[in-house]
Amino acid sequence: MPQIEALLSYPTIAALVDSYSRAETVAALRREIADQRAALLGDSPPDTLPDFSGPSFADGIAARIEADRLPALRSVVNATGVIIHTNLGRARLAPEAVAAMAAAGADATNLELDLESGKRGSRHAHVEALIRELTGAEAAVVVNNCAAAVLLGLMATAGGRSVIASRGELVEIGGSFRLPDVIAQSGAALREVGTTNRTRVSDYEAAIDDTTAVLLKSHASNFRIIGFTSAPDRRALARLAQDNRLIMMEDLGSGVLVDLSPYGLADEPVVAQVLDAGADLVMFSGDKLLGGPQAGIIAGRAKIVAQLKAHPLMRALRIDKLSLAALEATLRLYRAPHDPMKAVPVLRMLSDPIETVAARAAALTDALRAKGLRDLRTVDSTARVGGGSLPEQDLPSVALSVAVDGLSADGLAAALRHGKVPVVARIAQGRVLLDLRTIQDCEVPQVADAFAAVLRS
Ligand SMILES: *Cc1c(COP(=O)(O)O)cnc(C)c1O
Repeated sequence: MPQIEALLSYPTIAALVDSYSRAETVAALRREIADQRAALLGDSPPDTLPDFSGPSFADGIAARIEADRLPALRSVVNATGVIIHTNLGRARLAPEAVAAMAAAGADATNLELDLESGKRGSRHAHVEALIRELTGAEAAVVVNNCAAAVLLGLMATAGGRSVIASRGELVEIGGSFRLPDVIAQSGAALREVGTTNRTRVSDYEAAIDDTTAVLLKSHASNFRIIGFTSAPDRRALARLAQDNRLIMMEDLGSGVLVDLSPYGLADEPVVAQVLDAGADLVMFSGDKLLGGPQAGIIAGRAKIVAQLKAHPLMRALRIDKLSLAALEATLRLYRAPHDPMKAVPVLRMLSDPIETVAARAAALTDALRAKGLRDLRTVDSTARVGGGSLPEQDLPSVALSVAVDGLSADGLAAALRHGKVPVVARIAQGRVLLDLRTIQDCEVPQVADAFAAVLRS
C-alpha cells in the first residue's frame, strides 16, 4: 500500500486538496487505504490493486469526502405510509413550530424570565395556560417525553407505595419502555389485577389496601386484544379512586386533542374527555398525534401537578427551550384562527381525502415517467397512523408500485435509501411501494430525482 504522502503527490489527488481541503483528503485517503488493506487480508482478496494515480481512484476519494460532508442526521422522504414513524422522527412540525424553534435557538428568550416583574419566571408558564385551555385541566407541566412523564408522575405520587394496573394494559412500547419496568424504576410496587383479556373495576377495588396510591390505566398503544374482552370503565375507575382518596392516573401515550372519529379513527380517547371522566392525572406525548416536538405533557389536578413541579427529578427531565418553543407554536394551531386538521401536518396527513392522495399519485407518476421509469402502476394501499396510536386501524391510501430492470425490490429500496435525499419505501409482494399519504406535494420532485439517480447508475 502506498504511503499517504506518496498519494498526495499524484496530480489527481493534489487536485482534491485544492478543491476540498488537505485534512478531508488525508482522512478519506486513510479510510480508503484501510479498506483496501482489509480487502487484501480478507477471504477473497482482489487480483489487482487500483491505479492509485488514476482518475477513478481520485473519484472514489472525492465521493468519500462528499459523503463525509453530509450531516449524519438528515432529511429523508417518508414513503412508508406510516404517518408517525418513530424511526423517521415521528411528527413533522408545522412551519409555525419550525419558525418558533429557529427563533428560540438564535435569539435570547424570556425562557425563565417574567417580563412583567423582571423576576425569575418558570419555563412551564409558556404552555401551561394553553394546555389548560385545550384540555380543561386545572394545571399542566411538560417534560422531555411521555416516558419521563410517566416516570415522574409515578415517582412523585406512588414512590414507596403501590400502583394497581390491569394485566391487559401492561404494555411494552418498544425500545426499553415496558410499563412494569417503569413502575419499578419509580420506586412503586406494581399490583397486577384482572387477566390478559378481562379486567373489571371490582378487580381494582379488591386489590386496594393501605399501601395503594395510584390506580393506573394505560393505553394499549401498539396491540389490540379482541374477542371476549372487557376493560374497566374510566369513569367508574375514577370514582373508585375518589372514594378511596387515591389518584387515578392514565398514560394516554399518544393523546389527541381533537376527536378523530369523523375521519374513521374512533378509538383514540380525547384528552379533555379523559379528564372530564375524572382522571386526576394524564400523560401524553408531544410528537405523536399532537403533531409537535418530542415532549411529555402531564395534565390534571393542580395539587398533584404542583407536587411534580417541585420534585427533585423535575430538573433532570425538563423540556429544553427549542422543544418548548415548538410545542407552544403547535398548541396555538389548535385554537382560532387556525384549523388544526389543516395546520398540523400529522392531522392533515391522516385526514387528507383519498382524492388528494390519488392526485399526488398522479403527479408522482408523471414525474417518474418523465425521468424514464417505465415499470410503475397505481395501487390501492393501506396507510397507518403509527407511533403507538390507533393500532390495527387502517387509513385508505394510494401507492405507486415500482420496479427497475436489473434490481430486486430490496436492491431498489436500498438504492433509494442511499440517494442524496434518501427515500424510505415499503416492500410488498416483491415490489417497492411508495405510499402517497406520507409523501408531501413538495417532495414529489425529490422522489423523482432519487429515481433518476438510480436509473443513471
Ligand atoms: C409512546 C408511549 C409512551 C412513550 O412516549 P414517548 O413520548 O415516546 O416517551 C408511553 N406510554 C404509552 C402508552 C405510549 O404509547
